[in-house]
Amino acid sequence: MKILVINCGSSSLKFQLIDSDTEAVICKGLCERIGIDGSQIVYTPAGKDKITKVEPMPDHNKAIELVIEALTNAENGVVELSEIGAVGHRIVHGGEKFTKSVVINEEVIKAIEEVSDLAPLHNPANLIGIRACEKVMPGVPMVAVFDTAFHQTMPQEAYLYGLPYSYYEKYGIRRYGFHGTSHSYVSKRAAQILGKDIKDLKLIVCHLGNGASVSAVKEGKCIDTSMGLTPLEGLIMGTRTGDIDPSVVEFIMKKENSTVADVTNLLNKKSGVFGLSNDLSSDFRDLEDAYLKGDENAKRAVDAFTYRVAKYIGSYTAAMGGVDAICFTAGVGENSGFTRGLICERLSFLGATVDAEANKVRGEEKFISGADSKVKLLVVPTNEELAIARDTFELCK
Ligand code: AMP
Repeated sequence: MKILVINCGSSSLKFQLIDSDTEAVICKGLCERIGIDGSQIVYTPAGKDKITKVEPMPDHNKAIELVIEALTNAENGVVELSEIGAVGHRIVHGGEKFTKSVVINEEVIKAIEEVSDLAPLHNPANLIGIRACEKVMPGVPMVAVFDTAFHQTMPQEAYLYGLPYSYYEKYGIRRYGFHGTSHSYVSKRAAQILGKDIKDLKLIVCHLGNGASVSAVKEGKCIDTSMGLTPLEGLIMGTRTGDIDPSVVEFIMKKENSTVADVTNLLNKKSGVFGLSNDLSSDFRDLEDAYLKGDENAKRAVDAFTYRVAKYIGSYTAAMGGVDAICFTAGVGENSGFTRGLICERLSFLGATVDAEANKVRGEEKFISGADSKVKLLVVPTNEELAIARDTFELCK
């Protein structure tokens, strides 16, 4: 079956067409600047050159139409429309309602709408993507795959904040966690690479990209993760603060005479390694280059980042009563041996050692732990689209 995977943002739409038999990517691409001037679709059919088309895209319906046109046109299309057997949608927030992927029907759409106040920027965009696909491909089954679902196994002691319990009961204020599709995919893949049943393993997955989170996966179930009610909690990220004292918000508002919205924007978009490096960059390639040239701004930011990752690894080792393997994934985790090395230097308390040669790896599955390491360290490239396609196939085959 050919499965179309859709990841809809407020002004963008990423897509991949995946063959569920071979798991090969038949075509992948991106619609950018939807609803804004200068919108374009950029896509690459497998084995062919990248194609860019500048086209007005007033809304997501038009974007989906262009995706279908790109996939099916006579000149460089890759399928007939009737061959697309199902669509898998990445949905950011499933609240407590969704503990696994589900076939989309009106009831599911309503439930996604109901939790939209927990992800006001993302869930409405995801729903627009669902409606647009319904319109352009009526009758094709669709599946919702939630970023939060994998973390729903967290015990209450891990997901509750120290707030009055009534705020959880009334408003659902609790820790949900994100990047769940990635944490799930990487932990399962790590068990396969280790040649062990996941039920016998204690794993820590470090998803280190522009957004970053760590999860503790014990016996195949997530028991804790670093993101919370929103993706702002936890690690220091590209531009997000991660954990801070909530009193900082009021403090900055008074000092800068600013609003809650201003400070929320600051915490999400201007902080993290970007803010810590005095606005040098949020991109670890730039920070690594500058760090190696002795730049103090880059060193401050990267050191705070690697310290926070190591601190979470330590606390999750305590939460699980040990750790068998630590996995690195996403843009930084897969590609930056430098950053991985700095994190692992901080893990000597676990008896972790790094094989410097192996740690040069980029974007490939590889053990990077030394022969004498007491804990396995490994790079496992994530593949959220494939995970979404697999769930979609399982529910629609
Ligand atoms: P992601 O959010 O998973 O797409 O990760 C994007 C981030 O990965 C970029 O902002 C970079 O900081 C980082 N990244 C990608 N490639 C490299 C690389 N070769 N070396 C260091 N960092 C990288």
